[in-house]
Amino acid sequence: MSLAPPAHAVAGVAVTARGLSKRYGAGPAAVVALDRVDLDVAAGRFTAIMGPSGSGKSTLMHCLAGLDRPTAGTVCVGDAELGRLDDRRLTLLRRDRVGFVFQKFNLLPALRAAENITLPLDIAGRRADPAWLRQVVAAVGLTDRVRHRPAELSGGQQQRVAVARALITKPWVVFADEPTGNLDSRAGAEVLRLLREAVDSLGQTVVMVTHDPVAAGYADRVVFLADGRPVRELTEPTAELVLDVLAGLDPSAAAAGASTRGR
Ligand code: ADP
Repeated sequence: MSLAPPAHAVAGVAVTARGLSKRYGAGPAAVVALDRVDLDVAAGRFTAIMGPSGSGKSTLMHCLAGLDRPTAGTVCVGDAELGRLDDRRLTLLRRDRVGFVFQKFNLLPALRAAENITLPLDIAGRRADPAWLRQVVAAVGLTDRVRHRPAELSGGQQQRVAVARALITKPWVVFADEPTGNLDSRAGAEVLRLLREAVDSLGQTVVMVTHDPVAAGYADRVVFLADGRPVRELTEPTAELVLDVLAGLDPSAAAAGASTRGR
């Protein structure tokens, strides 16, 4: 892959959160899922968000990606402050400026791989640049599979279609929510290598929520949440270092993660 980093990457920060809070419910039963989070996501870098179950990872990703609105605080994606956008503009921003990779692939079963990949452009009434489409398809290793429908592809191949779909619009940021959660370790490693490659070769900004220390080891930076707040971070993480931090935050995670050591 070779392409100049997107212009917005020059500014250095792709996503900013300030005083971000999210409360579910009201009164004594209210749950504070995010508690005044300040976060800067560097452009052109691979950031992982980790933390014990219930620490607020999904809520943070949903608020950063404009899938959910916070109770308080601000989020900027590129030069757009999400809170200032009405629902229509927010939808357009998600379609044109953000790429998503979900645990369950979320491909349309009736469409061939190539059509799934170009779907965000088709919805926007834009044509894919043929050279860019070829490059993305080749990068995810699907050149001989573009006419297949999702049911004719393995889980790993389906997730590679989803990565290609996330990259096709050259978005400001790709959000990946447990992208390896439904894959065996080999297919998962392939998807993580692709995300890493998108960052290294294209200058793509990637934010990934994961509970897997091995997956987080592919990132440039890991932000750890506990009780809705960032409490630690690592740069140049390894799976071992990530496990050690997690063990300190949640001892039960250490036992669960121990099986990933040495992979
Ligand atoms: P994580 O992704 O780290 O497991 P979540 O962001 O899913 O954490 O959840 C953070 C907290 O917010 C948890 O206590 C969870 O139970 C609560 N929560 C998440 N979504 C909702 C919701 N829709 N309604 C009520 N509480 C929620």
